[in-house]
Amino acid sequence: MNKTNNNQDKPFSTDDRMIESPLENSDANGVIRAAEAPLPTDYGTFTAVVYHDLHDNKEHMLLKMGDVDSGAIVRVHSECLTGDILGSQKCDCGSQLELALKKIGEEGKGALLYMRQEGRGIGLANKMKAYALQAQGVDTLDANLQLGLPADGRDYGVAAEMLKQEGIDDIQLMTNNPLKIEGLKEHGINVLDRVSHEIVAIGENDSYLKTKAERMGHILTFNGAAVAVKDRDYELAV
Ligand SMILES: [Zn+2]
Repeated sequence: MNKTNNNQDKPFSTDDRMIESPLENSDANGVIRAAEAPLPTDYGTFTAVVYHDLHDNKEHMLLKMGDVDSGAIVRVHSECLTGDILGSQKCDCGSQLELALKKIGEEGKGALLYMRQEGRGIGLANKMKAYALQAQGVDTLDANLQLGLPADGRDYGVAAEMLKQEGIDDIQLMTNNPLKIEGLKEHGINVLDRVSHEIVAIGENDSYLKTKAERMGHILTFNGAAVAVKDRDYELAV
């Protein structure tokens, strides 16, 4: 980036101070490593690293634990305000997030990327417009299509860049979504294996999960319960 050259005569610009932390070690592809700190959680203590995407000014977080040099389990999670925070039963995001953190904590190593691409990349307002259509009986895929939005607007280039900057090139990816594997591979991440990341369907999200499986290529079995969503009793199925 050319900001360093341009700002030689005004090194204490407020904007630059916000972005250029002492930890910045790269701006490869416009994604800079902006801050790092230990983060104790219910699942163990992670190292939390914040990345700043200069293209759209979004901040993403990478949480890592233990030795993540080779073959560690990795989850790339897309922000979902309603599912992650509010306990929405419209999707399985909150449970998938907790399951990933729990798995990493149990293994003592791995990484989770929390990507700020709400609603599979379409944004919060568009997601709620799609929910309004779904309340009239339209499924999750058709709702997006009726709104003129992509079924899945996510881009994995930034996530791949974050992994590369952490030295995490070979991973086992926790996902049910083959597109996510392909997306990361396209951006130079070696996905050694897929780790199933399935939770049990409950009431409201049952149809959502069936649409993901039947129309969007997700690998879901609907057999043995992977996770009990309601009581947060994370008994893994064999
Ligand atoms: Zn969600």
